[in-house]
Amino acid sequence: MIPSVLPTYNRAPLTFVKGEGSWLIEADGRRFLDLGAGIAVNALGHAHPDLVAALTEQAGALWHTSNLYHIPKQQELADKLVANTFADTVFFTNSGTESCELAIKMARKHFYDAGQPERTDIITFEGSFHGRSSAGIAAAGSEKMTKGFGPLLPGFKHLGWGDHNALDAAIDDKTAAILIEPVQGEGGIRPLPDQCLKGLRALCDEKGILLILDEVQCGVGRTGRLFAHEWAGVAPDIMMVAKGIGGGFPLGAVLATEAAASGMTAGTHGSTYGGNPLGCAVGCAVMDIVTDPAFLAEVNRKAGLMRQKLEGLVAAHPAVFEAVRGTGLMLGLKCKASNIDVVNAGYGALVVTVPAADNVVRLLPPLTLTDDDIAEAMSRLEQAARAVEVA
Ligand SMILES: *Cc1c(COP(=O)(O)O)cnc(C)c1O
Repeated sequence: MIPSVLPTYNRAPLTFVKGEGSWLIEADGRRFLDLGAGIAVNALGHAHPDLVAALTEQAGALWHTSNLYHIPKQQELADKLVANTFADTVFFTNSGTESCELAIKMARKHFYDAGQPERTDIITFEGSFHGRSSAGIAAAGSEKMTKGFGPLLPGFKHLGWGDHNALDAAIDDKTAAILIEPVQGEGGIRPLPDQCLKGLRALCDEKGILLILDEVQCGVGRTGRLFAHEWAGVAPDIMMVAKGIGGGFPLGAVLATEAAASGMTAGTHGSTYGGNPLGCAVGCAVMDIVTDPAFLAEVNRKAGLMRQKLEGLVAAHPAVFEAVRGTGLMLGLKCKASNIDVVNAGYGALVVTVPAADNVVRLLPPLTLTDDDIAEAMSRLEQAARAVEVA
């Protein structure tokens, strides 16, 4: 008999019932160190007092009105995002997938209104992940995600990761945009080198197409800047955001320049819940913390510390690990042993990590983790590695 919850997930045999900072408490009382943060969602850890206060205050005032009316917290969050990024304008969604949908619609509409309706193609890359909607899976294009779900949304060209020649050849007079993650998350923590992101920006400018960045996983302080592309010193035309921006409350956004968003006039797009008072109240509290330069400096310091210790872990366990990769607190352990075995051994050692493609174990801890948490993380990962070695 089919379970009452549609069985689309492979779940670990764990039931967490409470969270405190970097810690998750299992139903049986065991305390797990959380280096997954709900896949980079709990950017400020669990039950951060500022987020709890923002949510409960809004919950006592007003939950929902719809976008038929002005929503003060939505306006406030949009103003904060515009003030702190390349963007001139913001649309709020409830998830990364919905941000992907709008990013694609926005790019196509931009060219439609500009008298180039044939420019509908979006160029994407192998190993990418942009969500599970029909557009999202068509954008990623992998067999694993698309098989059986056709016909797929047309208009995507998939290129190999780092294949510069193919990229030049792929752009033609039907191309609307390039869509890429500055750091691939699901694909196995693969950072796009700054030079490549600069090159993509220059190429888009030269060809008159749009650059769409998917910062759903790598954004909101994760890499030590508010958004990952800032390291390369270039900006996108359109950017997808979600995960960390809500700190655990479902919230996403599409940020865009005025020019890229030119086609999105009244009536062209909408959402019932997108930008609702609860999500935006939490988003404002998240932004107030992650835009503080001192907070980001701490993320960078802790990232350096963690990376250094992980290099030591990898060197000490060459049969289990191959290399450390990633940037900021978006780190990956490329494994020699099975990454799933390492994640499972981590559960035994009471540390939570997340598998990714390419046999990688992802470490996406709360950005608020302490030096003590890092020391504890290393001893638990060490214990997990030893367990994999003897198995
Ligand atoms: C998680 C993720 C998405 C999809 O976000 P959902 O909130 O699950 O819809 C899209 N892009 C990237 C890079 C992601 O990591």
